[in-house]
Amino acid sequence: MKKILLIILTIFVFTGCTTVRKRDNYKISKHFTFYEATNSRMAKKYGIKNNPSRGDFKTIKYTAKRMEKVRDIIGKSLIVNSWYRSPNLNRVIGGSKTSAHRDGLAVDFTIKGNARIAFDKIRRSGYSFDQMIYYKRRNYVHISFRKNKKLERKQTFIKRN
Ligand SMILES: [Zn+2]
Repeated sequence: MKKILLIILTIFVFTGCTTVRKRDNYKISKHFTFYEATNSRMAKKYGIKNNPSRGDFKTIKYTAKRMEKVRDIIGKSLIVNSWYRSPNLNRVIGGSKTSAHRDGLAVDFTIKGNARIAFDKIRRSGYSFDQMIYYKRRNYVHISFRKNKKLERKQTFIKRN
């Protein structure tokens, strides 16, 4: 009996620590792929793996569901610039420890054309989010969520850079 428990515990600990790897076109929601959520130019540049833990993978899938809503509001496909950042990647690029990207709860995206249009549509729709920032010069939108929707602040900012 003890032996069985030990085996179960070992498996539990082992699987808890391993990261999730999927093929690039693996769908995490109707329109978003594993590649979109984990692809990172910086990770490639520094040779860092950007595979999520099992817990982070669940969070990414939750965010994907929220992003499907965002996609519906905007009415066209989104071009994802940055989504999940593993602890390693976040450290190397000097990202904030509290960055929502670190948990897979934030997405930087743009659209064909002016991303400000997407920003305004989301803001006017009344759909919930935690923070949304429009970066004017680089023409992209950062949007973040919380696992508990009730805690979302719906803060919006416009930045020139
Ligand atoms: Zn961001």
